[in-house]
Amino acid sequence: MAFLPHQVRGVLLDLDDTLYDYPPCNDAGNRAAWELLVARTGRSAEAVQEAFVRGREETHREFHGTAEEHSRLRYITKCLVHLKHLDEGGALAHEAHELFWKHFMEAMRPRDGVMEFLKVLRARGVKIAIVSDLSTDIQVRKLAALGIQELIDILVTSEDAGREKPDPAPFLMALKRLSMTPEEVIMVGEDYAKDILGAEGVHITPIYFRNGRNADPLLGTLEVCSFKELQNMVCGE
Ligand SMILES: [Mg+2]
Repeated sequence: MAFLPHQVRGVLLDLDDTLYDYPPCNDAGNRAAWELLVARTGRSAEAVQEAFVRGREETHREFHGTAEEHSRLRYITKCLVHLKHLDEGGALAHEAHELFWKHFMEAMRPRDGVMEFLKVLRARGVKIAIVSDLSTDIQVRKLAALGIQELIDILVTSEDAGREKPDPAPFLMALKRLSMTPEEVIMVGEDYAKDILGAEGVHITPIYFRNGRNADPLLGTLEVCSFKELQNMVCGE
């Protein structure tokens, strides 16, 4: 039997590491960016990686809770500062940043069952919202890379909302844009602190997506291990 079939008018979905497998994409992006930085700065791979990690950690600290904390351009710019490489006009940082996302997005594939789930929801008139941290331009490009742009009704990012999940802001923005109440939607995501607690904070029923790397089953939280399972839960067989 479907889960609340008559009440679910909208499905809120996390993007990163829920609709696709994130680590291989991030690794592909990092490898490409680091290779370019090694070639252009003449520094060792170890020195570049160490400076990149320092830049990333500083960015996380300085911009915690906002979309900017994920900015690869900031990681790379800070990386070059740590390497004491004079990047005239920021050209190398920009080039490495573009290369990062090019390789990241080329590695992206929707998880099994994602396309079908989205198509079934649309066929039933259920609205689909992506509620995701990070900047809007990057997330729009990711939806295109996954080939799901036309299946998504609205995209809400932490850049749009001003704060990251689990802050209520992105969830409330999605509800407002859908003209729906918390009782009419569900939220699906793989990050317990952001997606599950965030949804619960605004009284939206969360479904925990287990991607094989996240924590053990959570007592009292609905959970699925695949999009097929999710489709059965939301739409019935
Ligand atoms: Mg996620």
